[in-house]
Amino acid sequence: MGVRDRLLKLRGSVPEGVELVAVSKFHPLESLREAYDAGQRAFGESRANELCAKAVAMPEDVRWHFIGHLQTNKVRQIMPHVSLIHSIDSERLLRLVDSEAGRLGRKVSVLMQLHVAREETKFGFTPEELLTVMTPDMINGLGNTEIAGVMGMASNVDDERRVREDFRRIRSTFDSLKEGVFRDCPGFSIVSMGMSHDWRIAVEEGAGMIRVGTAIFGEREY
Ligand SMILES: *Cc1c(COP(=O)(O)O)cnc(C)c1O
Repeated sequence: MGVRDRLLKLRGSVPEGVELVAVSKFHPLESLREAYDAGQRAFGESRANELCAKAVAMPEDVRWHFIGHLQTNKVRQIMPHVSLIHSIDSERLLRLVDSEAGRLGRKVSVLMQLHVAREETKFGFTPEELLTVMTPDMINGLGNTEIAGVMGMASNVDDERRVREDFRRIRSTFDSLKEGVFRDCPGFSIVSMGMSHDWRIAVEEGAGMIRVGTAIFGEREY
């Protein structure tokens, strides 16, 4: 099966109302074009240089999602192209993104990255940290940024119970924020979780956006 068929098959099994971000990192433009021609508009990339190179080569109506660890010195580079940054993992990065958006006279939407997985190398806030950091002062101090929700990954394990538990923690942290500090913010609405191997579980646990690469584009060659 090619990219087009895998994408259409996947889209057929993702419930309505769940947004599919096609994670195209490390894949060539031909593959992205094939997905685009099959109707895909949201693409996810994890490296700034690659996102920018692809953004100028692809049609303008593509929505680019940045999903990798964002270094502060790359913020300026992606800002003209990016539609949603999934991976805000520090207050410093959040403030920088806000000021760079202001410099360009644009608004930017971001997700706060949660760390719930067993692996220690993953970036992000623990649920407790995020609930502490997201104060009204913090949120109101952002002039150009809309915090649109949270993003997270489950542990990379076969134990489905653990994976499900991780997704539940992500979802319940979102719910706490939604009922708390973001209760008057309808834009706080996105739970981004679930990848090729675990998106079905993520959707069952309340994902509104999934990020799928391999199941669409095949294995990545690093
Ligand atoms: C690479 C990546 C994905 C997609 O992973 P697949 O297993 O290829 O579907 C999703 N989310 C993040 C944050 C990634 O880095």
